[in-house]
Amino acid sequence: MDRQAVTQTIRERMAAGILPRVIPPLTAPGRPTAPTGHINADTAIGVVTCAACDTRGAQVAYRFPDGRIVRFHGRCHRIWEDECRRVSLGIPVSTRPVDDDEG
Ligand SMILES: [Zn+2]
Repeated sequence: MDRQAVTQTIRERMAAGILPRVIPPLTAPGRPTAPTGHINADTAIGVVTCAACDTRGAQVAYRFPDGRIVRFHGRCHRIWEDECRRVSLGIPVSTRPVDDDEG
């Protein structure tokens, strides 16, 4: 899935409430964290599905205040962060460049 497709999917899922619109503290999969939450046992590092592009191999996990855990690839994570900032700043989608300007 290319960047534009991932970006579009992320936008749709944020609009639908599937993906959060705020950036929570980062949690690394497999690393011991505060006992307020944990990674579900039915998933494993390297085979978890990315919340943005629905393919396996997500490397970044976020745990949200409501206990939900969302995982992304590194690339998808950056796109989602960009979208969170855009939403939080109220920047219209149309002002975003359509070319891949971040590698
Ligand atoms: Zn992904």
